[in-house]
Amino acid sequence: MSTPVYELHSDNGNRMFVKRDDLLSFGLGGNKVRIAAAFFDDMKAKNCDTMVAYGSASSNLCRVIANRCAMEQIPCYIICSQSESENTREVTSNTRLMELLHAVIIPCKKNAIAPAVENTLLQLRREGRRPYYIYGNKYGTGNEGVPARAYADAYDEIIGDEASLGVTFDYIFHASGTGATQSGLICGHLLHGDQKKIVGISVSRDRERGSSIIAQGVTSLLAEKGYTNKFSPSEEIILEDGYRRGGYGLYDREILSCIRKEFCTNSLPLDPIYTGKAFLGMEEYLKDHQIRGKNILFLHTGGTPLFYDCLNRGELSDF
Ligand SMILES: *Cc1c(COP(=O)(O)O)cnc(C)c1O
Repeated sequence: MSTPVYELHSDNGNRMFVKRDDLLSFGLGGNKVRIAAAFFDDMKAKNCDTMVAYGSASSNLCRVIANRCAMEQIPCYIICSQSESENTREVTSNTRLMELLHAVIIPCKKNAIAPAVENTLLQLRREGRRPYYIYGNKYGTGNEGVPARAYADAYDEIIGDEASLGVTFDYIFHASGTGATQSGLICGHLLHGDQKKIVGISVSRDRERGSSIIAQGVTSLLAEKGYTNKFSPSEEIILEDGYRRGGYGLYDREILSCIRKEFCTNSLPLDPIYTGKAFLGMEEYLKDHQIRGKNILFLHTGGTPLFYDCLNRGELSDF
């Protein structure tokens, strides 16, 4: 896998680059193409035969997983969280695609994920299946090292991108959600022993909780890789939670105008839940920390269907 990297038009005083992982050549792209591949390898290594995933109605991971399952004829169960208040199922391009791909969607409230996971796994085992739950146990922990592998490998690719562009990136910015991408990038950075700063712009979790999950991913992957140097979570994990605009899925006019601007000036399709929020967060971070004269890479983590959802709601029209 390799994706285009090129310089953006920008007036923030830095050289800005983008790596277009939204253009990965499977299932409408995105970081979840790499991450899903790591989960499928692990599932096969563990001799399981049924995929169980969890995510929101906007989840790009669930969509990509459903797509691979359809392609490989693996039964696919998706536990889909809904907001506490809503009784109707949220419909997005991603949920429509999951249905098109014949994934079984199991709706669940956000405060009842563990029992939903447990019941689903139990039921499948009763039916004689060997289910694989991507996040480990019913509380969603224990498997952090697996998805982290994806961006530890992608980091090698980024080092290659630097060589072909003739630049060294000082920072890599990206939208951080489950922390899989950030864990992998931090591992890559440590394994290469370079000076890059990996800055995750949190789109959901607060810094404390997010960082501890990232630390678990990094620690378990480093152990797997036989890395024995010290890993200092407080130094290496930069997870900015001040640009969340209230929480997962929430956004405002500033994010929407950032999306419009980037589509006009750089032809980047961003979405308000992940990449648009992160891109604006990156711009604010550079300003807030007075960072100038650096080489900055924005990792475009995908979410193309969410760009169209936003466009079709009319939110990108002039206001
Ligand atoms: C999932 C996702 C992220 C966050 O990646 P994590 O590895 O979960 O932190 C960022 N952007 C997009 C478009 C995503 O779908």
